[in-house]
Amino acid sequence: MYNNALKRALGLFPTPCHPLNNLSKKYNKNISIKRDDLTGLACGGNKTRKLEYLLGDALQQNIDTIITAGAIQSNHCQQTVAACNKLGLPCHLVLGGEPPKKATGNYFLDKLANATCHFTGNNRKGEDLEKIVASLTAQNLQPYVIPYGGSNAIGALGFVDALEELLTQHPHATKIIIATSSAGTQAGLSVGKKLLKWSGDIIGIQIDKTELNHLSFLDQLIKLSNDTAQLINCNVEFSAEDFIVNQDYIGEGYGIVGDAEMNAIKTLARLEGIYVDPIYTGRAFAGFLDLLEKNYFSNEDNIIFWHTGGLPALFSLEK
Ligand SMILES: *Cc1c(COP(=O)(O)O)cnc(C)c1O
Repeated sequence: MYNNALKRALGLFPTPCHPLNNLSKKYNKNISIKRDDLTGLACGGNKTRKLEYLLGDALQQNIDTIITAGAIQSNHCQQTVAACNKLGLPCHLVLGGEPPKKATGNYFLDKLANATCHFTGNNRKGEDLEKIVASLTAQNLQPYVIPYGGSNAIGALGFVDALEELLTQHPHATKIIIATSSAGTQAGLSVGKKLLKWSGDIIGIQIDKTELNHLSFLDQLIKLSNDTAQLINCNVEFSAEDFIVNQDYIGEGYGIVGDAEMNAIKTLARLEGIYVDPIYTGRAFAGFLDLLEKNYFSNEDNIIFWHTGGLPALFSLEK
């Protein structure tokens, strides 16, 4: 654990890691799954790990409100309001799009949990955060701002810890497959890989192509990894060669659920009794299935599919 003093316990760790026997048999490979869909905060997900550090940091400051941003079906927002409730902090969410007629999936949970929601039309990645923060400050509130996806160096620390957790459970892992979007998960795991001198590969299946903070995804991933390493005085410098980012499965773009995602969701449900979500893990699992079909992995590989959560978004699907 890299900064225990900062961390605030919000979930149930370690999350389970177990073999996928039917999938392994089908492809004649060694495949396991890391269950961050079972983090134990609300409906679970990878944001719990980031929030343990982010809200730990918030509680050490003079703040009285939490604010963050995401899409209307944001798992990050849903996890944030749950964590805020647990800590007794009011939570504001800055959501892309317009208020929907019917609350479904994550947004339904946000409303149940009493989040204050601000809708920002086409600004879907927290572009309006500053403006809304200013309006809260004008009301004499003292907000702590969690960036889009919880992806800054503090949040990414949760995934530095997570790699150590996984390798304790599964010391012979050689490949990790994850959905990658706001880069915090992949950055944290990548810093963990350097720290632990792990020789395996972290394969990020990119979910969407849009820029982050005016940087390309890869540049943001490099910057965030360097920032995270620096925060814990780990003297490494990341460059593009340190990362595997697969852009082959972006399909029609963020949140547009195609046949590949539907097939992936059904495959895992029918083989293993586990659900992935339509936006992140469904897309990453679709990419994983395609890589298996193409014989990307060797028979010696110990492959981990990292389930990063997202179940509630399944209940917003109209398929
Ligand atoms: C946010 C999210 C991801 C992506 O994690 P990043 O750290 O933003 O790259 C993957 N899966 C699910 C279910 C998520 O909610």
